[in-house]
Amino acid sequence: MASLPAGVELVLAAKGRRPEEVLEAVGAGGAIVGENYVQEAEAVIGAIGGRARMHFIGHLQRNKVKMAVGLFDMIQTVDSVTIAREVDRRCAQIAKMMPVLVEVNSGREPQKSGVLPEDTPALVREVSLLTHVRVMGLMTMGPPATGVDDMRPYFASTRQVFDAIARAGLANVEMRYLSMGMSDSYLVAIAEGANMVRLGREVFGDR
Ligand SMILES: *Cc1c(COP(=O)(O)O)cnc(C)c1O
Repeated sequence: MASLPAGVELVLAAKGRRPEEVLEAVGAGGAIVGENYVQEAEAVIGAIGGRARMHFIGHLQRNKVKMAVGLFDMIQTVDSVTIAREVDRRCAQIAKMMPVLVEVNSGREPQKSGVLPEDTPALVREVSLLTHVRVMGLMTMGPPATGVDDMRPYFASTRQVFDAIARAGLANVEMRYLSMGMSDSYLVAIAEGANMVRLGREVFGDR
């Protein structure tokens, strides 16, 4: 398992892994499991039985929100008011407060999910008005890395947006987590301020 500096939280990116593999990684010290698919999460939760917190890190579809809010402890990929409102509405029904990260499309890729950096503060402000959702930071993927250092500007710009929002001191917003960096890029991400990294291959091996 990757050894991370103090203060950096590991999310086991578990897509496509068998529940037994995930259970083993949790036993080896993974406290947070990240899942991209709601259905897959159900099987994993069955296997790990409360031994780890569950974070949703995939693209959340509106028709999956009801199920997702019952399963996850955090949703890292809120990128529109529409999806935030649906999370809020479904959480209100089960009297739950959902911590969320806002996903930033730092690479400005048209096909990718996430909100553009310049639109992020306004989205955070709107989400902050919801009563059953609490913004706890930002998440970004960045474009597919060709070389590790190519990722640095995307992480740095996300960090700048993060700091600006934190300085604004909005009510019902707690800028605690900056989730960025995957197996190929987590060291650069940490150098640029990430305090949460999402590792798949580095932990589980190649898929
Ligand atoms: C798969 C995935 C990861 C981990 O990717 P690796 O390259 O296997 O470390 C991190 N974040 C998200 C959102 C993912 O889908």
